[in-house]
Amino acid sequence: MNTDALLHSFSFPSKAEKDFIQLVSAKDCTLVDVNGKKYLDALASLWLCQIGHGNEVVINAIKKQLDLLQTYNIFDPFTNGPAAEAAEKIRSLSPHPDGRVFLGCSGSEAIDTVIKFARLFQQRRGENDRQIIVRRSSGYHGVNIGGTSVQGIEGNRVGWGDLLPHVIEIPNDDIEPAARLFAEHGDKIAAVISEPVQGAGGVIPPPDGYLDGLRRLCTDNGALLIFDEVISGFGRTGEWFAAQTYKVTPDLITFAKGVTSGYLPLSGVIISRELADELENDDYGKLMHGYTYSGHPTAAAAALANISVIESRGLLQEAHRIGEKMEAGLKALAGDGMIKSYRGIGGIWACELGWSGLEASHAMVDKGVVCRGIGEALAFCPPLIITDSEIGTIFDRLDEVLREH
Ligand code: PLP
Repeated sequence: MNTDALLHSFSFPSKAEKDFIQLVSAKDCTLVDVNGKKYLDALASLWLCQIGHGNEVVINAIKKQLDLLQTYNIFDPFTNGPAAEAAEKIRSLSPHPDGRVFLGCSGSEAIDTVIKFARLFQQRRGENDRQIIVRRSSGYHGVNIGGTSVQGIEGNRVGWGDLLPHVIEIPNDDIEPAARLFAEHGDKIAAVISEPVQGAGGVIPPPDGYLDGLRRLCTDNGALLIFDEVISGFGRTGEWFAAQTYKVTPDLITFAKGVTSGYLPLSGVIISRELADELENDDYGKLMHGYTYSGHPTAAAAALANISVIESRGLLQEAHRIGEKMEAGLKALAGDGMIKSYRGIGGIWACELGWSGLEASHAMVDKGVVCRGIGEALAFCPPLIITDSEIGTIFDRLDEVLREH
């Protein structure tokens, strides 16, 4: 289009609108651009479209809700059926089936909310000095001021002036420095925030015992454990939540993306029953937090329909199938010396190339497969409906790109 109005995310602001790939439609795992070129979406947009594009069940649920109550806030005294039902459904699938669910729009909103909640609980417990949030290197938690402060990707943190105080980083691959940090500052730590599988930082599954280690350190020291499941939630690792995959139960869970497969923006925070009991003490007054679009009925209707599709199409099981296929393909490439290494679980994988991931992802996009370059890695996170033959296409194109390099 002949306009320069739109400022794109994570892009050079001088790049012309006409130089972006203009998408016009999508169905299942296929994207179509304005020139009619087709792409295989091996990234599910941005790690989110579990059910694939153009699903009629979700589209129809959205249309139906639009005819009833498109939008309304849930500030006291209002509520709506889809929001209450979505919260009920989400908690029932989570490790906290009797907890409470706060709703927002974006992952970044969920992160800022969970940081506030973690500190609120500590303040209410009288632990006024417990303000430290521990972040992990390579962690990504969105771009609001809280998420910018607690993410372990330095490039995203610089240039904005002062961020949140009381944030300390631990290495993402070794629990010992975390233990030392707790030994030194245990009484000042409000919470540890961690993606169970780090996504945007390079698709990094946790080292054996790492998440258990964080759980133990938090429990022993009165700190809260937050899992950021914005990517890993809703089937990505083969269970509803990666907390279930790794059998480690955090106190608070953030989610977004896969909860609606991105058909409409929705995010949230799941709170354990223990914490909910603390929250439900009215002596503290109202919860002074909430967004205009918290509990948005149409987004909630999209979530309910999306979750029903994940259930009816058995997409948790499909994530295991995808995992087996991706692992086998990457193993073969590593065996042939074409990639240096690979890692992943379920429907999220990356391979280390030893050269620019960005260059490789551009070459893949040219060949019609969308994936993501991160450092010297190439990341894949396809819709959980991707077929074996489409996975074959990913590897055919990857093979070409690796040979042509
Ligand atoms: N947390 C994680 C783990 C993410 O991967 C992301 C986005 O990729 C976010 C938070 C932020 O979500 P959003 O971009 O919807 O604000």
